[in-house]
Amino acid sequence: MSAAKKKAAKKSAVKKPAKKAAAKKKAPTKKAPTRVAKKKAASLSPAAKLAKSIHMPTNAMIGGRSVPAASGKTFATINPATGEVLAEVADCGSMDVDRAVAAARSAFHGPWSRLTPGERKRVMQRFATLIEAHATELATIETLEGGKPITDTANIDVADTIATIRWHAEAADKINDQLTPAGMGIVSMVVREPIGVVGVVLPWNFPLMMAAWKLGPILATGNTCVLKPAEQTSITTLRLAELATEAGIPDGVINVVPGFGPAVGEPLGRHPDVDAVAFTGSTETGRRFLNYSAESNLKRVLLECGGKNPFVVMHDADDLDAIAEHAANAIYWNGGQNCSSNSRLIVHRSLKDELLGLLLEKSREWTVGDPLDPNTRIGAMIEPEHLDKVLDNINSGHVEGADCVLGGNQVRMASGGYFVEPTIFDNVTPQMRLAREEIFGPVLSVITFDQPEEAIQIANDTAYGLSASVFTSDLRTAHLAARSIRAGTVTVNTYGEGDVATPFGGFGLSGFGGRDKSLHAHDQYTELKTIWIDLG
Ligand code: NAD
Repeated sequence: MSAAKKKAAKKSAVKKPAKKAAAKKKAPTKKAPTRVAKKKAASLSPAAKLAKSIHMPTNAMIGGRSVPAASGKTFATINPATGEVLAEVADCGSMDVDRAVAAARSAFHGPWSRLTPGERKRVMQRFATLIEAHATELATIETLEGGKPITDTANIDVADTIATIRWHAEAADKINDQLTPAGMGIVSMVVREPIGVVGVVLPWNFPLMMAAWKLGPILATGNTCVLKPAEQTSITTLRLAELATEAGIPDGVINVVPGFGPAVGEPLGRHPDVDAVAFTGSTETGRRFLNYSAESNLKRVLLECGGKNPFVVMHDADDLDAIAEHAANAIYWNGGQNCSSNSRLIVHRSLKDELLGLLLEKSREWTVGDPLDPNTRIGAMIEPEHLDKVLDNINSGHVEGADCVLGGNQVRMASGGYFVEPTIFDNVTPQMRLAREEIFGPVLSVITFDQPEEAIQIANDTAYGLSASVFTSDLRTAHLAARSIRAGTVTVNTYGEGDVATPFGGFGLSGFGGRDKSLHAHDQYTELKTIWIDLG
């Protein structure tokens, strides 16, 4: 290692976060509020005030009942913005999974799959309306347990959750089955039937939205389910299940079993009475579900996994200011803890300096702060281990010789939370770890190219294939690039994921077996049946 690299590596040495959360903390003794405390409370934002009195369900939801874990154990859910214990949640295991699967099976044989699609639609619409009525409360809990900015949880996570449930509800009674051309004496029908009990295993980065992306099509097609939220973020999923009951979704249709991966996710993945598993999370865990299925009942497995997504700026791209805005959004939104974040900026050499200058300016707008403050744009990393992983990746950039032109540090350490500032590395090469691993933090790598084919080759130089963005003013270049990049979603002259009507999922290590969103998601929660009637 050169002296310069050694110096850089030393400078970026990972600072350990305050580990307030390590031990279960005794609840502080309540004291009467002082005048200073009262004044402070008066200056809190509405979300911060609500956070002090909010109802947070912590039991499992099985068969429509709120129940503790069979073992009676609980685990601490931590607020990643402060490192403090937020709640003690039921620490479930395989006995709870068995109870939940039995409840889901009985609800499947009971009313839910027998309702007409129109009746299911109406109940789901009531569910969406109730979520809307509790939007502020849900956004606040999502912010408290996920460390996500309140402006995002309110305007994006909860809003998308409501819209997703509504859209799939609305589609429920608009999908027809088929008759095939079999001749006069035969009625040949191809019909879709609900697949049965679906296990849903969720990540922590978009707890409500990912639950809704699964629940929408699962419920609309008449299935029942057992949800396992990520252990870091169980509470909004549990609240969602309470609202479902209130909306009239029959008991046992939505069960929620909180707990850890090996204790709850694995028994769900291996359960002989689960017909399909829909998983969103890391590729590493996703692979396990294929094994669980192979070694149990060959249940259908749908995997939505990670990404290392390219943001390609061709030499003829227009409006660099707008492109810089998109690039900042693509890497900093949700603190980069986003499967479809564009963490590789692949830019034509002739535009690099100007675009990077604009991007550095835009980066200043992405303030890191208290997630309950409406002005905060980047909240906390989810947990100390994840913070360490992000800082370790930053360190690798220094060690491998990339140029850190912005940030690179853990910040707001006095808060006790796990914050990283916006970070940009220039002169990254496609071989560097920064350009290859999913960092899942606000860390952008800038890579330059000279020929359009080279840009496509770099974009595709990854085992992932979730999403990509291409910027060009030439329609032909746009079309060729969109068709040549191996990714489930390619956006042109914008950053995003389409909308609820477009399928979302990945190629390669980014996914397997299906898609979230759109009518295609309805297909994957149904079985095809041929009915061949001989009319004699
Ligand atoms: P993770 O794989 O660590 O955990 C996901 C879920 O799997 C959690 O509920 C966890 O408890 C469970 N799990 C962990 N180990 C398990 C095991 N051995 N058996 C069964 N279940 C187990 O992922 P994460 O860290 O929560 O989420 C981040 C990842 O999710 C990133 O890679 C991200 O790209 C991906 N993601 C993908 C999409 C998409 O739509 N493609 C969306 C959001 C997040």
